[in-house]
Amino acid sequence: MERVIVIGSGPAGLTAAVYAARANLRPLVLAGGLYGGQLMLTTEVENYPGFPEGIMGPDLMIRFREQAERFGARIENVDVTAVDFARRPLSVHTYDEQYEAETVIVATGASALWLDIPGEERLRGRGVSTCATCDGAFFRDKHIVVVGGGDSALEEALFLTRFGRRVTLIHRRDRLRASKIMSDRARSNEKIDMIWNTVVEEVHGDDHVTGLRLHNVTDGSTYEFETDALFVAIGHMPNTGVFAGQLDLDERGYIASPDGSVTNVEGVFVAGDVNDHRYRQAVTAAGTGCRAAMDAEKYLEALEFRMDSLAPSSF
Ligand code: NAP
Repeated sequence: MERVIVIGSGPAGLTAAVYAARANLRPLVLAGGLYGGQLMLTTEVENYPGFPEGIMGPDLMIRFREQAERFGARIENVDVTAVDFARRPLSVHTYDEQYEAETVIVATGASALWLDIPGEERLRGRGVSTCATCDGAFFRDKHIVVVGGGDSALEEALFLTRFGRRVTLIHRRDRLRASKIMSDRARSNEKIDMIWNTVVEEVHGDDHVTGLRLHNVTDGSTYEFETDALFVAIGHMPNTGVFAGQLDLDERGYIASPDGSVTNVEGVFVAGDVNDHRYRQAVTAAGTGCRAAMDAEKYLEALEFRMDSLAPSSF
């Protein structure tokens, strides 16, 4: 029986692991087949406090992992396939194992959204991608399109200028959602141009992307646009699949937490992007990971106190 199982290994999950390990709870982290969360897919992180020169996302996550392991966290790179929170102990299943736990911290994060248009799925990995860090280098000296108007889209576009001969940002409105600093950087980058008030309707190509059908939402026109790659950067959705029917979700599909990290199931706590549609920063995720571990520790203490007071010697 585990005292704490942490599901997920981004900043939230691994911070929860550091705190739970330092509280002597020997947490088991079920990290997912690809540990580290979204920062493993990013380049330089400039806004994580403590790194004035910036740090590469994957390097930051290696540090998180090493810190958790240093205090005794056990980290398994396995995916959780099902949970049963309806009975005690709580149970968590992977392909090969079934674990039992007194508490579970859910920190499964969020995944990139897709446009859901014809050609997109068929050409994934053949010019269509949501990860510039993973796939950007395939498009050296090519023309690249990035869709979206938030910080993610601009970060991807800026990164892709290292490879592409030109990067076109296509946004559905006439104003960016991104922060001023990122907007200024993108606007002043000579390799980046922008197409406003436009959505991508279809991706063309047989075995690789050759072009897009674009639709101008202001004048209603539709036209063909040649390009070699389409990077979709339109936001994320929470990874809640295995918790369907087990945990309450809010109206946006994120795990609901009526009070701090507390969920509707006693002993199950939540942290990070799977519970946060608003901030979605590494540092806020880390903060909520800390909070969840402290809440789990307090819960276990209270549980022990209850068990002690029920023990025969106390009658
Ligand atoms: P976001 O802020 O939600 O932006 C999503 C963008 O995609 C918006 O511009 C949105 O358009 C557009 N969009 C959404 N659905 C679309 C669709 N179906 N078709 C076309 N466009 C669509 O998401 P994000 O950029 O991933 O950022 C999420 C959070 O992470 C933010 O808080 C951001 O500040 C943070 N972040 C920070 C950094 C950094 O500091 N370096 C880097 C990445 C992310 P509308 O504007 O019209 O809604």
